[in-house]
Amino acid sequence: MRLTLAVYVYVTLVAGVAAAATDLTTADPEDSAVAAIAAPVPVPVAEPVAEIGDVPVADGPRLAQADTDEAAEAAAPVAPTVTETVEAIDPDTASDVPVAASGEEDAEDSAAPLASVLALSVADSLLTEPYAIGTERRSVTVASGNTLLGILGDAGAPRAEAHALIAALEEYYDPRDLQIGQELTLILEHTGQDTTLVGLEIMPDVEATIQVTRQDDASYVAEPIATTLEERPVAASGEISSSLAADTGAAGVPYSVLVPLVRAYSYTVDFQRDIQPGDLFEILFQRAYFEDGTVARDDEVSYARLQLGDRDLPVYLFEASDGFIDYFDRDGLSVRRALLRTPIDGARLSSGFGYRRHPILGYTRMHRGVDFAAPTGTPVFAAGDGVVEMAGPYAGYGNYVRIRHNGQLGTAYGHLSRFARGLTAGARVRQGEVIAYVGSTGLSTGPHLHYEVLVNGTQVNPLSVDLPTGRQLTGDDMVAFRERVDEVDALFRATLRAQGQFAETPQETDEDGGSSAQ
Ligand SMILES: [Zn+2]
Repeated sequence: MRLTLAVYVYVTLVAGVAAAATDLTTADPEDSAVAAIAAPVPVPVAEPVAEIGDVPVADGPRLAQADTDEAAEAAAPVAPTVTETVEAIDPDTASDVPVAASGEEDAEDSAAPLASVLALSVADSLLTEPYAIGTERRSVTVASGNTLLGILGDAGAPRAEAHALIAALEEYYDPRDLQIGQELTLILEHTGQDTTLVGLEIMPDVEATIQVTRQDDASYVAEPIATTLEERPVAASGEISSSLAADTGAAGVPYSVLVPLVRAYSYTVDFQRDIQPGDLFEILFQRAYFEDGTVARDDEVSYARLQLGDRDLPVYLFEASDGFIDYFDRDGLSVRRALLRTPIDGARLSSGFGYRRHPILGYTRMHRGVDFAAPTGTPVFAAGDGVVEMAGPYAGYGNYVRIRHNGQLGTAYGHLSRFARGLTAGARVRQGEVIAYVGSTGLSTGPHLHYEVLVNGTQVNPLSVDLPTGRQLTGDDMVAFRERVDEVDALFRATLRAQGQFAETPQETDEDGGSSAQ
């Protein structure tokens, strides 16, 4: 039974997230290690926030693009006599009678054709020129080239009212931030002769709707209304069969949720080499829902666990009493390190640290760094926060960058084709920032990055050096962290169980359902 459930949950999640697949091929160059998890998986390009964008700002009858039925409904209160006429006619009969049939000579036959002609002409007028008296809530989807002023004008709002409304809105929202596909709701009052702009609702993000309303004195007032969101946990677990991105995606974890997690793990996991089929993952994250149950937003991962071969790597998101937030392992050690493991994405380690025969010099000598083979132009990242000590040609290194990260620790990058704009000695860089691009300058036989880690000025093996760790929780923080770990572990198990129970109902068609139905 447990297995059946697990399988069903898996299948359900696959179906559920298929649409949430996002573009894995155009990862931001700063996404160190992120590209690695995505590389083997060809996934169609999709808007990461498609789910959010699909949520309508508000519902309301649409007159402009309404089909015949909607138009007839909407028009009902406007011209009741016309509506009565329409209702008196059997629609089938009406549609059977041609308006100006060429072969029909007996036009004066009876009342029926006359009524039909009348009904059709009413329908025609509704199709070509919808109109209404009363308040209309009109949803508008922003299209390319639209301006808010233009949208309001198209809806029939007087120009002065549109200007006044926009002026009020600007207190909370810049109309130039309108995005293609964004929805807004216009509230319009039609008298039959003219239209008054009564209000506008716009949802710049899921947190709030900005409501602009016309006052009795004809001025407009804008007011943000906080959205009521309900947070619920989502748990996923599974085995890696093709890639971390594909398999977590299939288990219900959107790519946008996975990326920050991969960044956190990238200090201890080499996503190019460390992930093997059969490895296991567990992920718990929060998902925010609108009141109508649609997904508003996915929040960060509160717990994750990777079991890679015999390495068990659980991490818990935790905020220390001084406000420091990071993922911590079970022992309360933060996973973030002073240096990235590899300062380049998608590269192959082509030469390790140690004695080797130099490919150009021809004799054996110490290789004081590691080489990553990568195409010319591949971005190179600063391995850690620091200050650029040197950026320029440097002997056999060719174009060379050296960064000082703290009193003891430095990194160096050689054979670069060019430097990032503005990268000069004295510049401050952030971990993961692009500092230069792979090349083959200096004593080099082909495009690759030569990377060194320096401890007190001496090169050490970047792959084995015990890099400065993050932060170790102590005292009250550690006590609070242990409680958090127990809490999160329990929540993860409970959420998985709950998802399983939820999935049980539709599972009636297999052997369980069959036996109970007899
Ligand atoms: Zn080298």
